[in-house]
Amino acid sequence: MALIVQKYGGASLATPEKFLYVADRIIKEKKKGNKMVVVVSAPGDTTDNLIEFAKKITKNPAERELDMLMATGEQQSIALMSMALISKGYKAISFTGAQIGIITDKKYTSARILKIKGVNKIKNALAKDYIAVVAGFQGVTEDEDITTLGRGGSDLTAVALAKALNADVCEFLKDVEGVMTANPEIVKDARKIDYLSYDEMLEMASGGAQVLYNRCVEFAKNYNIVLHVRGTFTDKPGTIIKKEDKKMEKVVVSGITYNKNEAKITILNVPDKPGIAAFIFTKIAEADINVDMIVQNISQKGTTDISFTILKKDLEKIEKVLSVIVKNIKAKGYLMDDKIGKVSVVGVGMRTHTGIAAKMFKALAAKKINIEMISTSEIKISVVVRADKVDTAVKVLHDAFNLGKRNIKSEKI
Ligand code: ASP
Ligand code: MG
Repeated sequence: MALIVQKYGGASLATPEKFLYVADRIIKEKKKGNKMVVVVSAPGDTTDNLIEFAKKITKNPAERELDMLMATGEQQSIALMSMALISKGYKAISFTGAQIGIITDKKYTSARILKIKGVNKIKNALAKDYIAVVAGFQGVTEDEDITTLGRGGSDLTAVALAKALNADVCEFLKDVEGVMTANPEIVKDARKIDYLSYDEMLEMASGGAQVLYNRCVEFAKNYNIVLHVRGTFTDKPGTIIKKEDKKMEKVVVSGITYNKNEAKITILNVPDKPGIAAFIFTKIAEADINVDMIVQNISQKGTTDISFTILKKDLEKIEKVLSVIVKNIKAKGYLMDDKIGKVSVVGVGMRTHTGIAAKMFKALAAKKINIEMISTSEIKISVVVRADKVDTAVKVLHDAFNLGKRNIKSEKI
């Protein structure tokens, strides 16, 4: 008998039929004698729709009220899921975040969990043979204001509950069968990855793979909680995310990710003096704009170009900041380019294998794909290329690193 925390995402709860299907899937585990705690997201696109509705009322909804509104999505799901389970003859009980005392700070729309006060309520329900159905994504401040944990935050609720309950497994059920070596819509022979380390998962997410909420993976890493990402509509095992081990290192590259949400900014003829980069990026940070890659060329005649990437959604916001920067540091001007994409290869094996970058660049060159920016971490290499070359780049890299259906364990580079 195990205590299992299962989290179901909105896509698995988009219709009444899907609720009933998921209920059967939960019951299957329950029948094996397991104690079940189920965390649910809002049905389908509910959260997006609620935000859209609010934005029709005002461009900048008050954040406290936005949280109050968004939290209703998950409240719908807990009620509907409990009804489904009860209708099938099982004992089930729903809990909002507030009811089980998921206490957060006051940072509306991206609150942090401080503690879970009411975990005993869940334990008591489990002891009485109930299936506990908990609303993801939401919490409550000490003074009883409803908060949400950031988009995708139900994942964080699940892992925090797994820790608080000392669960045996924390499963994430999705409409895909696990984390894939690349987006199967682009790469025909993409396959499911069996094991990933926490760091690989984090790098893949920042590279564009939308599988788990980053803060969920960070939390799991901190507390060493094993995560299992698997398909809602299959019984097959999915991807296990856990602490790095020797076996993982044998796989040089685990996956290829891409992201078309970024734009490239170049500031031209920046004076090559101490303090200038600090000034530029302080101004950008003050405008609450996140910067991803940064490249600075060597200076010729005392000036240099600085390029960096930001999210496309921040383009409008950064224009004002850039004019201020250019004027202040006496640069020549700036360029904005939103026709770029970032492609990354990720794998812990990079720590112990050499030549990965060379192999990556060679594969891109063979397809005449120009690399505009490069950045690396210990276990990731990312390049910026033209947006219309991203799909080809992903395909060619997936092939170059043998990530298809072949046996990757014997891969040699
Ligand atoms: N419903 C919320 C969202 O769409 C939380 C979640 O799905 O995890 O972001
Ligand atoms: Mg959702």
